[in-house]
Amino acid sequence: MIRYAAPRTTAEAVDLLRTRPGSRMIAGGTDLVVAARGGKHPLPESLIALHRITELGRQREADAGIALGALTSHAWIERSPLVRSRWSALADASAMIGSPATRATGTLGGNLMNASPAMDTGSPLLVFDATVELQRADGSRSVSVADLLAGPGRTTAAPDELLRAVRVPYPAPGTGSAYVRLDHRQAMEIAIVGAAAALAVRGDGLIGSARIALTAVAPTCLRVPAAEALLLGRPAGTDAFAEAAGAAADVVQPISDVRGSADYRRAMTSVVVVRALTRAAQRAVADTGPAGRAFAETGRNQ
Ligand SMILES: Cc1cc2nc3c(=O)[nH]c(=O)nc-3n(C[C@H](O)[C@H](O)[C@H](O)COP(=O)(O)OP(=O)(O)OC[C@H]3O[C@@H](n4cnc5c(N)ncnc54)[C@H](O)[C@@H]3O)c2cc1C
Repeated sequence: MIRYAAPRTTAEAVDLLRTRPGSRMIAGGTDLVVAARGGKHPLPESLIALHRITELGRQREADAGIALGALTSHAWIERSPLVRSRWSALADASAMIGSPATRATGTLGGNLMNASPAMDTGSPLLVFDATVELQRADGSRSVSVADLLAGPGRTTAAPDELLRAVRVPYPAPGTGSAYVRLDHRQAMEIAIVGAAAALAVRGDGLIGSARIALTAVAPTCLRVPAAEALLLGRPAGTDAFAEAAGAAADVVQPISDVRGSADYRRAMTSVVVVRALTRAAQRAVADTGPAGRAFAETGRNQ
């Protein structure tokens, strides 16, 4: 028989994790329960449900950015005017997850801790330098999302650590961002390839900072610094984007599976990166000078 507990505070939850080794936390259950029903993994002998811990469902805006409680749903992120305007790539990603029911039930914390290489929120969180707050009975620590993700289904969190919140810093002023996913249909799908981009475009139309991260083409979502470096100080336009996309495709290590072959994924990486950069640049230039506005209107640098 499965042991089940539904604590009301984070302190109670981490104490249960300490005293019941082998327990698993359950948030929305859209990964854990669906995998068990599908025969992929049996349910653990002890479940700790998090849904009664109100603190984990809160969002707090602070000077440095936003702290999203682990139980923040994809539906909340998708609808939040603040996230849509400041961290557009994250809102794009949450809006694509599953169906309205999946987004209402599935949580940001569950998406990260499930650690699928195809998770949609991973790449946006990487381009924004997000960190997570992990808590266990004897204290808490902060870890970057880049250091949290260790491989397919694996994180660097200890089994008795609870993800409490995801902290996302404000991007620099003038930054636009986007997440683009290639999939066979537009709902109830998992990424074949995904890319997040965050670009700051200066008033003269040149790129001041660039971040690119990729989904479903390596054991974890990953940033591609070599591709980012090719964009700095260049006009935000198709030539620079194509070069950066080519460099991104050079570093991927995709697998072949039912959704696509490794070769197809590698080829599509460049396509998806160009689309993400183009959308990010269009969003970035909304409040910059005439060079930027020309790009926003035509998709090309004049
Ligand atoms: C029909 C369907 C469509 C889907 N489509 C997509 C999609 O398009 N893109 C996508 O990325 N995902 C998709 N998913 C997967 C899933 O919905 C997401 O990954 C979701 O965010 C998982 O959140 P959850 O709260 O349901 O996680 P749960 O299933 O509750 O937990 C997932 C894992 O995280 C652990 N966990 C949960 N919360 C915490 C915490 N606070 N601290 C520590 N560990 C924790 C659990 O122990 C478990 O190992 C889909 C799922 C379904 C069923």
